[in-house]
Amino acid sequence: MDQIIIDGLEIFANHGVFPEENRLGQKFVVSVVLYLDTRRAGKSDDLEQSVNYGEVSQRITDFIQNHTYQLIETVAEKTAEDLLLHYSMVQKVQFRIEKPWAPVGLPLRTVGIQIEREWHTAYVAFGSNLGDKKAYLDQAIEGLSKTKGCQVVRVSDYIVTEPYGGVEQEEFLNGALCLRTLLTSDELLDRLHELEQDAKRERIVRWGPRTLDLDILFYDDQVIDTKTLHVPHIDLQNRDFVLKPMAQIAPYLRHPVLNQTMEQLWAKLQEQGQ
Ligand code: ADP
Ligand code: MG
Repeated sequence: MDQIIIDGLEIFANHGVFPEENRLGQKFVVSVVLYLDTRRAGKSDDLEQSVNYGEVSQRITDFIQNHTYQLIETVAEKTAEDLLLHYSMVQKVQFRIEKPWAPVGLPLRTVGIQIEREWHTAYVAFGSNLGDKKAYLDQAIEGLSKTKGCQVVRVSDYIVTEPYGGVEQEEFLNGALCLRTLLTSDELLDRLHELEQDAKRERIVRWGPRTLDLDILFYDDQVIDTKTLHVPHIDLQNRDFVLKPMAQIAPYLRHPVLNQTMEQLWAKLQEQGQ
């Protein structure tokens, strides 16, 4: 991807673990790479189509001077987040902060840290089969869209489906959504669990009735297998109530392991069912 580079921006600010650092302040040196598509700006010669590096430099300076943190890790995390939230064209930020006067007491040139943060695309399946189902789903989507660093990009229709897994219970209301997010996959899972808790979901019977179920289907094209998280969702290719909404909002999305699109997987499952 194209890059806008700001190199060696000097900022006098008050971050540090020692009280003297917070009181007296010191010099910080920031270098930033913004990843975005500059093609349209390059073709049109129009600044509106790009990001103004002067404005970015001022914004970074203001942010770093208006906050006081102990750790440069935090300065980097918060400033990178601010840039990603503010400049919608920017897909990814590489952020480096150095502290040449750090009170180490040894003859070093500088110390610093460098991080990369970016927007991810996740797909989330949602379902409810208890109480006011539509209200639970609406509430969950509202909750996600109000979460810092989460933008709900697209939501499928809600569809009525028969229960899955052989437990006798009410029918479900299901769907899927596309999310642009700064959260890591683990943080997203935690957030989904919180939203389930907000809906007072009780885990009594496996595959049993629930006010709200939120599952991560995809997270970019990553393959994740940990004790608490399997992505792509391990059973999505067998679930009509996942594939139908996914075929609606992302027909051409390709499953990174099965190597088939949502449309293909859904067609295949329908054939098997006949
Ligand atoms: P299910 O969704 O299979 O009906 P639960 O919602 O009770 O069951 O989820 C049980 C656990 O599954 C969660 O606590 C979570 O740690 C784990 N899990 C593994 N992969 C995923 C995923 N992709 N999305 C959501 N939860 C997942
Ligand atoms: Mg679940």
